[in-house]
Amino acid sequence: MRILLTNDDGINAPGLKVLEAIARGFSDDIWICAPAEEQSGAGHSLTLTRPVRLREHAPRRFSVSGTPTDAVTMALRKIMPGPPDCILSGVNRGANLGDDVTYSGTVAAALEGALAGIRSVALSQVYRSEGVGDAVSFEAAAQWGEAVLRPLLAMRFAPRTLVNVNFPPIAADAVRGIRVVRQGFHDYARGSLVEGTDPRGYRYYWFGLHGIEHTPGHATDLEAIADGFVAVTPLHLDLTHESSLARLGECYRR
Ligand code: MN
Repeated sequence: MRILLTNDDGINAPGLKVLEAIARGFSDDIWICAPAEEQSGAGHSLTLTRPVRLREHAPRRFSVSGTPTDAVTMALRKIMPGPPDCILSGVNRGANLGDDVTYSGTVAAALEGALAGIRSVALSQVYRSEGVGDAVSFEAAAQWGEAVLRPLLAMRFAPRTLVNVNFPPIAADAVRGIRVVRQGFHDYARGSLVEGTDPRGYRYYWFGLHGIEHTPGHATDLEAIADGFVAVTPLHLDLTHESSLARLGECYRR
């Protein structure tokens, strides 16, 4: 089995090392292509206005100067001898729960794989508080990654779908199991805005993650994580709101 790994936190991200260790439990045919720098929050952006530079760090280990989507695109179009059997994106430093998924470079890299018809999984390790830097513990992901991925790597995904996995911010032996749940939603209107003045005297603004309201709801990814489970959520690319189609159509009918 040929596996492509990527990570929106960059080629040197601790979570990428965790993912590589998990993936090597399944295969020796591991390829890595990730952004050279952290690209968290890049979403599904594709670099179009600048050239993208490719760097080979070691055999089958590359970085690109662009986004997570650029990294997957370069791997599929340039680097790999043939399409991988699956793409694993992560393990991200931080949650990709609820409507985080549209901002997420981690989920977008898996989404790009799904668009290419490749079975793709996004993996993220939730942590409790900001300001912890590289001290985020990937323990739950490291210990539960194989159990989560084994069934996924043995099954066929529906076309244009991907699977989003989040590991709870607790010790591995405190994790209560794996739940398959739907996507929940945050209240982003409450997100914080940090303001300050830089060393040269200019004002700056920094979007924060504090104060975001969580709405766990019933059987959502947010609820599963709050309850101490690994959350597994199938996602699809079609954002059409089915029940509004007919009502909106009526608006334009004469
Ligand atoms: Mn990230």
